[in-house]
Amino acid sequence: MGRYTGPACRLCRREGMKLFLKGDRCRMAKCPVETGRGVPGMHGKRPGKKTDYGLQLREKQRLRRAYWMQEGPFRNLFKRALRKRGVTGEMLLQMLELRLDNVVYRMGLSRSRREARQFVRHGHVTVNLRRADVPSMLLRPGDQVAVRTRKQSQEFARLALEVSQQRDKAKWLQFDRETLTGAVLRVPSRDDIGPFVNEQLVVELYSR
Ligand code: SF4
Repeated sequence: MGRYTGPACRLCRREGMKLFLKGDRCRMAKCPVETGRGVPGMHGKRPGKKTDYGLQLREKQRLRRAYWMQEGPFRNLFKRALRKRGVTGEMLLQMLELRLDNVVYRMGLSRSRREARQFVRHGHVTVNLRRADVPSMLLRPGDQVAVRTRKQSQEFARLALEVSQQRDKAKWLQFDRETLTGAVLRVPSRDDIGPFVNEQLVVELYSR
């Protein structure tokens, strides 16, 4: 499956919820979900009963799109979650949260997960003092994340921090705004992640 290059807002409209794919614009009144623009497409929302499969598929797409992932890597992550001890849905959410691009986003170093991925890919961060440019890297408690000392990296991060101030801080992360360094304190719990999807439906879909 190719990379999605269409409008991000279209995905939120399709899912009927804010997926926060565009940073500061997502907090403004002109967000298409806020203004009530419905499902995209010529015929808009079609009436009719949703099947179990339809519900499961929508939930999976919501989760995958919120973390700005393609189907292949998302499914692979699910397979890894399946092999872990514990509730599979929760394991999947934890792994999504512990991805380096998500940690960068949660620390406020980017306006969206999409931007976080680019920030990581362009080599602006280090993990445990070593340059890390793989967004899918899974972090562990104790891992130290820092913005590189290059002028460009620092400027970009400080700009994003200004914008992301209003976002809730992740309790499972520590971050110092002055030094632009932080760490993973613990594995996030289900409560830390919030109830925006029903992950059990995603498990059911992939277990068919
Ligand atoms: Fe667009 Fe952001 Fe609103 Fe989604 S939440 S529709 S990406 S402005």
